[in-house]
Amino acid sequence: MADHYETLGVSREASPEEIKKAYRKLARQLHPDVNPSPEAAEKFKDVTAAYDTLSDPQRRQQYDLGDAGGAGGGFGFGDIFDAFFGGQGSRRGPRSRAQRGQDALVRVDLDLAEVIFGTHRDIEIATAVRCETCEGSCCAPGTSPTTCSTCGGAGEVTRQVRSVLGPVVTSSPCGVCQGYGTVIEHPCDTCHGQGRVRSQVTLPVDIPAGVDTGLRLHLPGQGEAGAAGGAYGDIYLEIRVREDETFTRDGDNLLATIEVSMVDAVFGTTTTLPGVDGDIELEIPAGAQSGDVLTVRGRGVTRLRSPIRGDLDVTLQVRTPTKLDHKQKDLLKQFAERDKHPLTPGLIKDQPGLFSKLRGKFGR
Ligand code: ZN
Ligand code: ZN
Repeated sequence: MADHYETLGVSREASPEEIKKAYRKLARQLHPDVNPSPEAAEKFKDVTAAYDTLSDPQRRQQYDLGDAGGAGGGFGFGDIFDAFFGGQGSRRGPRSRAQRGQDALVRVDLDLAEVIFGTHRDIEIATAVRCETCEGSCCAPGTSPTTCSTCGGAGEVTRQVRSVLGPVVTSSPCGVCQGYGTVIEHPCDTCHGQGRVRSQVTLPVDIPAGVDTGLRLHLPGQGEAGAAGGAYGDIYLEIRVREDETFTRDGDNLLATIEVSMVDAVFGTTTTLPGVDGDIELEIPAGAQSGDVLTVRGRGVTRLRSPIRGDLDVTLQVRTPTKLDHKQKDLLKQFAERDKHPLTPGLIKDQPGLFSKLRGKFGR
């Protein structure tokens, strides 16, 4: 991009009025309404960009500081200002080309069984890897960066600029080497001088038992390769646990609810619940009530980074029969007639004969 002052045809010391006047004059010649040629349109764009910068005192000052003369190469001044005044504070001297790679957040969905026992996943990620041709040096094989002749390797040039306080000597990043102090004359063909290339990689990850939704596993140095041989970024693996049909999780414990027939609740029974790690035998005691909880020790979730496993709490829900035939209704009516204390649990033990009959009728 041409120098803004040259574009407007004014001196570097031009006053705001002179800049405005120069812009108006050029705009009258180049405005698309006046001059439809593509060259004029291009020039008009440049002139407007120059005016936008130079008419704003702050941007003009920044431009004056950042423009080291014949910048070329199309780099943004913003980058350099970030590097010098943001990223690296007030540090002076050549800056390093090497930049740390980006961190990446990767989500992984797990089943409950994987959470209980831990799991291994091969995760596909789109990332950047170090260039194998130049090994991150950015230079074609057999070549190396040469010291910048403009700044002598300092990465910055000093010059006198106009400021509101009068002329001051200021140093600014060297525009030729972009502040690096060296120039790469023969960039690596493979990575176009970036020192890294985009790639799809498979990342093997061991996920420990006991993780939960929202937990982020930090995998340092497993992320994107840095530019110009810079350090690798990190990967954060964010866990999401899929809902299970049978079990819900409560910390290290698992919760489940099972239905028990009225008759099984009365007489007690054994049943099996298909667990994530094999069948779980449940002993339902005689006289079980809806809402009773059976605790099975050690069949919950493994605690993170520990061998301890939580418990499984099974809540019983007694199912009241809804479709009864005549015989069943008669039997229940007989039961009701003899049931003097319908809300007293002790009743169950007093009526074994009747319940034996009921058991055969209702099944399980
Ligand atoms: Zn390379
Ligand atoms: Zn330089």
